[in-house]
Amino acid sequence: MPGNAPGPQPICEAVDLGDPSPCEGPRDAVTVVDRHGHSTKACVPHGIRLHASLTDAHVLPGSVPGADTEVRELSRATSAFAWLDHHQPFAEDER
Ligand SMILES: [Zn+2]
Repeated sequence: MPGNAPGPQPICEAVDLGDPSPCEGPRDAVTVVDRHGHSTKACVPHGIRLHASLTDAHVLPGSVPGADTEVRELSRATSAFAWLDHHQPFAEDER
C-alpha cells in the first residue's frame, strides 16, 4: 500500500472504495479483526459498516474507550455493505 499520498481528507483504513461517507472521530477508534486475523483500524461509523459486512469478525478497543462495544451493538442493526443499499426494494411497487 502506498503510504505517501496524503489526501485532502484522510480516511480510516476500514472505509470501502465505494463508500462515500466521511470518517467521524478518531480513525483508530476501534480495530476490526476479520476471521483471517487481519486487523483494520477504523472510526466508529466505518467500523460498524466493516463489522457488519464481515463474517466472524471481532472488534477490539482502539483509542476511544467503549467504542468497540458501540460498534458491536450497532453493527447488528446495520446491513452488510450498507453504503450500497440505496435502492428501495418496494419503490417500484406503485402503479
Ligand atoms: Zn472511517
